[in-house]
Amino acid sequence: MPELPEVETTVRGLARHLDGERIERVTLNRADMRFPFPDGLVQALTGARVIGLGRRAKYGLIHLDRESTLVFHLGMSGLWRIDPTEAAKHDHLVIETAGHRFALHDPRRFGFVDLVDTARLGAWPAFAVMGPEPLGPGLSAGHLHAAFAGRKQAVKLLLLDQRIVAGLGNIYVCEALFRAGIDPRKPAGRVSRPALARLVPAIREVLEQAIGDGGSTLRDYARPDGELGYFATRFDVYDREGGACRRCDGQTVRRLVQGGRSTWFCAKCQK
Ligand SMILES: [Zn+2]
Repeated sequence: MPELPEVETTVRGLARHLDGERIERVTLNRADMRFPFPDGLVQALTGARVIGLGRRAKYGLIHLDRESTLVFHLGMSGLWRIDPTEAAKHDHLVIETAGHRFALHDPRRFGFVDLVDTARLGAWPAFAVMGPEPLGPGLSAGHLHAAFAGRKQAVKLLLLDQRIVAGLGNIYVCEALFRAGIDPRKPAGRVSRPALARLVPAIREVLEQAIGDGGSTLRDYARPDGELGYFATRFDVYDREGGACRRCDGQTVRRLVQGGRSTWFCAKCQK
């Protein structure tokens, strides 16, 4: 499942070939993904020029010169294929410029696209309730301190709450809590200010390291059938139940279930 670093890598990969280009042709190979394609999507995109790309949480943004923005979400299995040598069954939306073809490919179809007035992006329903970007200036120890005040839920669960921090998924919350030495079970309101001051850079480091790993694979996208969005990165605790802790080397990484999802942590290093 694509997380924020995969979406960021996808946006950067698309930007290389799509930014500044005019969209010459748009093909929809079915009527919907998770949701129906917006009415008039083909007409709205055809002839438009791409004037910039961006990302908000796990959503990619393709800004057009018609004061509109194509918002895409990759769902569980979505990815963009650049210059595929042949059409594939699950290429649901295909955008063509003078030089390239971009196919939004999603076998499970949990992904979707929407077309939004650029000036009203902040009011788009998913964005209107989102907290600050983890890599932006809005995330600070003070913000987390205020958001966690008096909250009894486990800190791990509140970090997954998109209203508190946007775009953080299970992998990176586990990794950041490990790096900051915070027990994922701790009631959020009881995490100390110094611990929160460690947590903010830990969140940024784990995301930026993964984006760097994704970026190092970008050169591969020049090849035919280049697929954006998925890459291998190294995790300290995620999916390492029973493995030796890489910090203390004495404990094994434990797994527990919180809110229906797995958490991996070291009980010795995380207090
Ligand atoms: Zn440890």
